Amino acid sequence: MPYKSFEEYNMQVTDDVKNRYKSIISDLGEDTQRDGLLKTPERAAKAMQFLTQGYEQDPVAILKGAMFKESYNEMVIVKDIELYSLCEHHILPFFGKAHIAYIPNGYIVGLSKLPRIVDVFARRLQVQERLTEQVLDCINDTLKPQGVAVVIEASHMCMMMRGVQKQNSLTTTSGFRGQFEKIETRNEFLKLIGK
Ligand SMILES: [Zn+2]
Repeated sequence: MPYKSFEEYNMQVTDDVKNRYKSIISDLGEDTQRDGLLKTPERAAKAMQFLTQGYEQDPVAILKGAMFKESYNEMVIVKDIELYSLCEHHILPFFGKAHIAYIPNGYIVGLSKLPRIVDVFARRLQVQERLTEQVLDCINDTLKPQGVAVVIEASHMCMMMRGVQKQNSLTTTSGFRGQFEKIETRNEFLKLIGK
């Protein structure tokens, strides 16, 4: 199976992470025996496993499982893909939208698979730059299209809640391969996603 749904948590990992969360909460000055916090270490351990489940999933297999021979060779765009990830420097969320386009070269891919692979790479400790690159390379190397483009716009909690406290800043990253390296094709894509 190319991926598994995350209904079951690894009990050993849950237990280890739970115990560490318990001491972290106590180190931060809280009473771990307080009613509202009793089950928090376990919930947090499960939440973190859910948010990092991408390590165990195979994005290439997901794409390969839904590639279809097709002669269509115009631009295919999936825009406004919701994205939630964790910044690897602070383990705080960053979230926003991904826009993906490709120009087929004999094969198209099931449209729902593009958001799926965004999730696979986003559910790891990440930086937005690498996330953009990984989605781009995965589509380019697996589907081998005439071109692929990825734009990600995201807000970073580590900037919003701490440090510079810039509430409204949006970070944009992009990558282009093949036909999208041509300025006309790239501009057409950017226009179609409203940039
Ligand atoms: Zn950060």
